[in-house]
Amino acid sequence: MFKSIAGRTAIVTGGSKGIGKGIARVFANAGANVMIAARGQADAERTVDELKAAGGKAAWCACDVTQPDQIEALVERTEAEFGGLDILCANAGIFPQTKLLEMGPDDWDHVLNTNLKSTFLSVRSAVPAMQRRGKGRIIITSSITGPITGYPGWTHYAASKAGQLGFLKTAAMELARYNITINAVMPGNIITEGLEGLGQEYLDTMAASIPLKRLGAVEDIGNAALFFATDEAGYITGQTLVVDGGQILPESIEALAEA
Ligand code: NAP
Repeated sequence: MFKSIAGRTAIVTGGSKGIGKGIARVFANAGANVMIAARGQADAERTVDELKAAGGKAAWCACDVTQPDQIEALVERTEAEFGGLDILCANAGIFPQTKLLEMGPDDWDHVLNTNLKSTFLSVRSAVPAMQRRGKGRIIITSSITGPITGYPGWTHYAASKAGQLGFLKTAAMELARYNITINAVMPGNIITEGLEGLGQEYLDTMAASIPLKRLGAVEDIGNAALFFATDEAGYITGQTLVVDGGQILPESIEALAEA
């Protein structure tokens, strides 16, 4: 099972670091050609080198996911490099913390453009390439923050992640006629370069609040994304999968302590 993406081509936005790198690694291990999209050259090149050293097929393309022309160029480059496009992982995202009363319109736009508008732009650009294949798979990296939980400083982030799920439902209906499925993974707290930047205290407190008592690994999200990309998941669209170690389950601190 789960070998059906061998030989297929996947774009992973934000694939140079963190969760995206985990998705890229899992997909490359499953035999897919992986095109990594990110802005920073050093991280992207290092990731491509690592994937190739492990026997995978990978390349990278400089792309700012907020820029429509750069996403169009990313899809063109992917088709030129690997002969087509089968899978899009719309994963790139940012999570700066700013309390609501200190948040300006530019802070809001920056997060919504990077996380939500980019989801629309990358899906819109990828679909024609998938139509040329006669089928396709799209996997969005959303979050538990927004659709399910709240966290101070992340009103803009939470709105962007909930917005991705609103987008998902209608996109799934519109894309079904092209044999394209679109689903979302909703990570809890996953150890990444980005999350480590929030500090050790945040990481320790968070781990203590998770029933499995640890933060997730990037491969935990990669494996969930892989499932949505396989032939075996072909009848699933417009759906979400929470991957959080049980973080959203406790009703109270007491409930967590008693478990
Ligand atoms: P990360 O370690 O900071 O990595 C972010 C990736 O996105 C990098 O490859 C970065 O590369 C890329 N990126 C950022 N802005 C970009 C832009 N404008 N254009 C192109 N690429 C861009 O973050 P992460 O923790 O892996 O998060 C990845 C996704 O998972 C995000 O959507 C986030 O909301 C979601 N998520 C994360 C967690 C978690 O616990 N880590 C939990 C829930 C959801 P460059 O900066 O070089 O462009």
